[in-house]
Order: sequence, then C-alpha cells, then structure tokens
Amino acid sequence: MKEEEIRPGNLMAENSKLHAKDVAEILIRRKEFKKIACPACESKKQKFAFKKDGFNFAVCLKCGTLFINPRPSRELLADFYKNSRSIRHWSDKIFPASEKQRRSQIFYPRAKRIIGLCKKFKIKNGVLADIGAGFGTFCQEVKKLNFFKEIIAIEPSKKLAQVCRQKGIFVIEEMAENVNLEKIDVVTSFELLEHLFWPKNFLCALSKNMSKNSLFILTTPNIRGFDLLTLGELSNNIKGPNHLNYFHPGSISLLLEGCGFEVVEVLTPGKLDAELVRKKILQDDPGIFLNRPFIRHILVDKWKSVGNSFQHFLADNNLSSHLWVVAKKK
Ligand SMILES: [Zn+2]
Repeated sequence: MKEEEIRPGNLMAENSKLHAKDVAEILIRRKEFKKIACPACESKKQKFAFKKDGFNFAVCLKCGTLFINPRPSRELLADFYKNSRSIRHWSDKIFPASEKQRRSQIFYPRAKRIIGLCKKFKIKNGVLADIGAGFGTFCQEVKKLNFFKEIIAIEPSKKLAQVCRQKGIFVIEEMAENVNLEKIDVVTSFELLEHLFWPKNFLCALSKNMSKNSLFILTTPNIRGFDLLTLGELSNNIKGPNHLNYFHPGSISLLLEGCGFEVVEVLTPGKLDAELVRKKILQDDPGIFLNRPFIRHILVDKWKSVGNSFQHFLADNNLSSHLWVVAKKK
C-alpha cells in the first residue's frame, strides 16, 4: 500500500487549507477549551510537549500518553464535526476518490483480520456490530466473507446511516453508548478513540452494554510507533482538534482494564510508518531526527532493498504507529 493511493496528494493539499480555516474558527472560542487529566490513567501530572496549529499537546508524566490539553469542550467538538469544511470535503471528495483503493488495501484486509482474531479467540460467528460505520465499506467487506450471521452498523450520522442502508446494511442510527449490545458477539471501533473528548466514558458505557466474554476490537494511533515517535509534531497524524488522544499499548491497556475489559492481544499491523518518515526526509522537513544518518541510510539509500523488511520488522514487533487492541468483556 502507498500513501498516495489512499490519500491523493492534490485533494489532501486542498483539505489542509480547509482544515486551517476550521481551526481558525475553533481557536476563536479558545475560552471554551477545558483542561483535563490524562485520558488514560487520570494522573494530573503532565508536562507541555509542543504546540501545533494553536493546540497545546501535553504528555502524561505517569503513563506517557500524549494529548491535547486544554481541549475544545464537548459542545465545541460537536459544532466542529457538524460544520467542519475539511470533514465535509473528506466525505464528499477524498473518500469517494479513494474508496476503491481503501476497499482493497484497508477494508478487505481489516475484515480478514477481524475474522482471524474471532477464530483465534473462539468467538461465536454470530453478530458483529461496527461502531462509527461511516460509509459502510468495512461492513460490506466483512459481510462478503460470510463468517458472521449478522452485521450491524452503528452510525449516529443521519447521512452516513443512509449510505449504509443503501449498501444493504442493517443500521442502528444512534450513539453507541445508548445501544444495547447484549446479543452482540464482536464489537469493532476503527479510528474513533483518538477523536473523543473523554474516551473513558465511551469505553465504560460500551463495556456496561456488552455481554461477558464478547470481544471488543479497536484501532487507534500508537504514539510509541515508529513514525509518530520519530516525527513527533511533524507527523501529519498529529492534528487537532480531530485527534485529541494518542495512546500506546501500555496506556490503552490500562484504560481498557479500568473500564471492565481484559486485553487479550495487542498488535501493530501498520504498513506506512517507513514510507511516512521517508517522505518527510525527502521533503527535507526540519527536525533533528530526520538528519540522523542511520534512519536516512535505511529509508533513503537502502530503501529499495530494505524498506519493506524494515516495515515488516516494525509491524511484527509492535513498533508501528497503527495499533490494534483486542479485549474481552470481563
Ligand atoms: Zn497517564
């Protein structure tokens, strides 16, 4: 998989401009930002990490989670998601332009991995519910594989719920926190946690609504993964107010365990870390790490011969920034 296939460069450049306008609007309401404790361990001991696009990032001194603090209030975030030009542009332009590639490169492998994990943990092939199903592409792909008896999309956006229905997927048009999940065998949530004001509320509500021993599988960025740790604030993934929370395998496990889950597997099957860092080096972005000769040697001079195996090494050793967590309801 290449980044250009899922994030076409020309559209992404346009999206960045729209995002800058969105950010300018939200920063005018800075007085409504709220200060929080660490979203993973709730420690109040934290230090300033860096400022990017007007947002302060703090790192928890106890568990190492990185998070925006202070952050836009829940109300401000709701307004942002309702009115954001960059998100509308993503839905109207970027997703449709890249859906075909995303389907084969992201959603199909994701569906296969979910089924593999269900087999591994001997989960009944009954009902799967996907929280924040969006355009329903994952639901479609997992449905095609004929493993689960039933697939349910949980999607609170009216517009997206309609898109899912048009694709023949059963939809519950509701916030996941309000859905009874007792009859669900597997709950999935892809790239959602990093967007939430206070993820603990979401996770505890979920756990309360699920049945014992059912599986919860989530993905989120890993702040201790190669590209995020190397690039830090230079990473395009470090992006407020969209992404507020950056966990790592240890801190996400701590959070889940505190919400009634038992973490049974952590994996980082990322494919893009090496390419993302390589791109920044080639763009000659500033940043002291990028001038480190060994990283440059691997990612530029030796790219053709070792780039692939370096990425595999990261993925195989939980060192990629793309984190998967498999948890069981206790
Ligand atoms: Zn912490």
